[in-house]
Amino acid sequence: MNPNDLKIESRNLIGGQWVGAADGGAFPVTDPATDRVVAQVPLCGAAETRQAIEAAQAAGPDWRSRTAAERGDLLRALADLMLRDRERLARLMTLEQGKPISESRGEIAYAASFLSWAAEEGKRLYGETIPAGHRDKRILILRQSIGVVAAITPWNFPSAMITRKLGPALACGNTFIVKPAEQTPLSAIALGELAQQAGLPPGVINIITGDPRAIGGEIFGNTAVRKVSFTGSTEVGKVLMRQAADHVVRLSLELGGHAPFIVFEDADIDAAVAGAMASKFRNTGQTCVCANRFFVHESVYGKFAAGLARAMASLRVGAGFDESVQIGPLIDDDAVAKVQSHVSDALDRGAKVRTGGNLVSVGAGFANRFFAPTLIDGLSADMRIGREETFGPVAPLRAFTSDDEAIALANDSPYGLAAYFYTRDASRLMRVAEALEYGIVGANDGLPSIAQAPFGGVKQSGFGREGGRHVMHEYTSVKYISWGLGPA
Ligand code: ADP
Repeated sequence: MNPNDLKIESRNLIGGQWVGAADGGAFPVTDPATDRVVAQVPLCGAAETRQAIEAAQAAGPDWRSRTAAERGDLLRALADLMLRDRERLARLMTLEQGKPISESRGEIAYAASFLSWAAEEGKRLYGETIPAGHRDKRILILRQSIGVVAAITPWNFPSAMITRKLGPALACGNTFIVKPAEQTPLSAIALGELAQQAGLPPGVINIITGDPRAIGGEIFGNTAVRKVSFTGSTEVGKVLMRQAADHVVRLSLELGGHAPFIVFEDADIDAAVAGAMASKFRNTGQTCVCANRFFVHESVYGKFAAGLARAMASLRVGAGFDESVQIGPLIDDDAVAKVQSHVSDALDRGAKVRTGGNLVSVGAGFANRFFAPTLIDGLSADMRIGREETFGPVAPLRAFTSDDEAIALANDSPYGLAAYFYTRDASRLMRVAEALEYGIVGANDGLPSIAQAPFGGVKQSGFGREGGRHVMHEYTSVKYISWGLGPA
C-alpha cells in the first residue's frame, strides 16, 4: 500500500458529527521523515471543546445505563476493527509519527489490546459489603462511573496512549473526549471513524484537535469534566495539576521518565544486551520508559559495552516505510536539538562517544532528523543526559562497584517511572526491585508494558495507573451507602 493512497479523514468528531473548526481554521500535519504536509486538521479552541464536552455529557445517561457486557461488546468490536485495519492504521501512524512500520503494526495490536482488556475487566467492577457497626445498619460499596472524562495524549504512541485511557474510561460507563497531540492527530481521528463503524453511540467518543492551551483551558474550566487523564511531559503535567485545582478535577498523570538500566556482575550479558536494545531503541528512543542511564558493574563493563555496540551497529537508520529500518526520524527539529545538546554537553563534561553521536543523511528528499544510534562512555550525574530525559537513540554508560552504589545512582532522579536491571541472583533481584523508587521495574526484562499490568510512576513521573485491574479505579468513584434498616 502506498501511503499516499490512505484515505485520511481529518475532521473532528463531536456528538457523532464530523466537523471542522467553527472559523474554518486548520493546521498542517507533516511527515517527520520528509517534512511533507500530509493533511490539514481543524484548529479548534474553547468553543468546539465546549460542544464536545456537552456531547459527551448528553451521551452519558444512556451509556452508563448499559450493562458492562453491552459496553464490552462495543469495545471489543472496536478492537477487532483496529486489527482488521491494522495495516492501514500502521501506515497512517508511520506517516505522521515516523516510527518504523513494524513498530507501528505492533502499536496497533498493543493499542487494541487495551480495549479488549477493558471490555472484559468492566464486567468485574465488583462492589462490596462490609460488616456494619450497628445491628440495624448495613454497609454497601458501589463503584460508579465518574462522568465526562477528558484525555490529553502525546505523539510518541499516537494510538495506544488513547486506547489505554479510552478502553477503561468507557468500560466503567464514562463518556470521553480526547485531544491528541498536534503532531499525530490522524491516528486519533482514524480511531473515531472505527468507533462509529463499531456502533459506539454518538457523543461517547469525541475528538478535538487544535490549540492545546485553549482546549485545555475549557477542559479544566468546564465543571462537566470530572476527570482528566494526561500523558506527556512533567512540565505540562505540572501546569495541568495547577489548573485542576480550580474545580478539584480528578487527574491521572503519566509524565516523564529517566529510566536507569543496571547490569550486575552476575547478569546474563547477552540477555542484558537484548533487553537494553529493546528498552533503549523502541520508537527511536522516544518513549517515557526508554532506558536513559546505564549503570554497569565494572567487572562486566567491557563485555556489556562491546555487546551493546555490536548490536547497535546492526540497527538500520532510515524512513519508517522501509521494512529493513529499526531507527526512524526524530519527531521534530526541537527533538533533534535536544538530543544533540545532550550529546555535546556530555562530551564537554568528559564523556566519550564510542559509536554514533551525529545526524546521518538517509538520502535525497529526507529531512535532517535521523540521529545515529549512539553509545557514550563516562556518564556522570552532572551531565544533562544524567538528569533529563533525552528522548532519542543515545545510550550513556557508567561503571559501578557495589549494589548500594548502583541503587543510589538509579534513585538519584526526580523521576520514578521505569527502571531495569539484570541479575541471575534471586535474592539480589528481590532486594534491588524493592529498593528502586520506580513504579515499573523490569527485572531481567526490557519491555514490561502490557495491558494486564499497571503502568505508572512515582515522584515527578506522575500518579495513577494504566492497565491491569488497577486502571479501573482511575475511572470509577467509590460510593458508600450506609443503609439503616429501621425497626425489625
Ligand atoms: P511532549 O513533550 O511529549 O510533546 P507535551 O507535554 O508537550 O509532551 O504534550 C503532551 C500533550 O499535552 C499534547 O497533546 C499537547 O498538545 C498537550 N499540551 C501541551 N501543553 C498543554 C497545555 N498547556 N494545556 C493542555 N494540553 C497541553
